[in-house]
Amino acid sequence: MSETLAHPAYGRVRQVTGQAAVLLADNPGPMTLDGTNTWLLRDRPDRGEAVVIDPGPDDVAHLDRIVAAAGRVTEILLTHHHRDHSAGAKSLHERTGAPVRALDPKQRLGSEGFGDGDVVESAGVVVRTWWTPGHSSDSLSFLLDDGGPGAVLTGDTVLGRGTTVIVHPDGDLGDYLDSLRRLQRLGACAVLPGHGPELPDAAAAAEHYLAHRAERLDQVRAALAELGLRPIQKSAPAIVDAVYGDVNRKVRRAARKSVQAQLMYLKRAGRRP
Ligand SMILES: [Zn+2]
Repeated sequence: MSETLAHPAYGRVRQVTGQAAVLLADNPGPMTLDGTNTWLLRDRPDRGEAVVIDPGPDDVAHLDRIVAAAGRVTEILLTHHHRDHSAGAKSLHERTGAPVRALDPKQRLGSEGFGDGDVVESAGVVVRTWWTPGHSSDSLSFLLDDGGPGAVLTGDTVLGRGTTVIVHPDGDLGDYLDSLRRLQRLGACAVLPGHGPELPDAAAAAEHYLAHRAERLDQVRAALAELGLRPIQKSAPAIVDAVYGDVNRKVRRAARKSVQAQLMYLKRAGRRP
């Protein structure tokens, strides 16, 4: 390759590993960082066909670029149902005829049951599906076995920078911590996230996220104690003020959902013998 592109690179195909290239959608925002990463998987860049992970928004220019870069689209896989990842799936399916596979049956097109442990072999790559709920109940990660250290496509379960939101009540913090522990066992394989730049080491990223979650839970516990509140949903607004007082209004709604998820987690933890 004559040049090396760094994230973010809008409108350009950026080869990240031997088998994975990314097209960044032009939909930046407080929840999408620089935009949604659409991943193209194939055993070599000149293969003329590719598996597409997360078509992103229903944006004609972005979908045109996906089709131009992929050649033939053999499969469309979704990490989860959130619109910034899935909205373009129907249009891409109609243009290419490729099946849309997702854990959520409502997202599937031209495909049937799909979930944990399923393997997709296509465009010269082997993609193994892991159910990693927490950010949403239908969050999947995809393991790419490239004969080397491999890579994992994490959707919004692990992002390239910052931390993710547990979208209560669909998302669940207990599930999320379990999913992070599962990703931690992958060791030093690359993380190819749904937003933000790639990361070199899945275990290190998962550890960082686990430490951040533990810290936030400690802050929530301390705020509850200080304010004399119980871990119930009614306590959420006061806890958001106490723990996330510094976030701007745009992310405040997300902070409230995260706090609600944490209160639910602490309430359940309190009930355990
Ligand atoms: Zn997202």
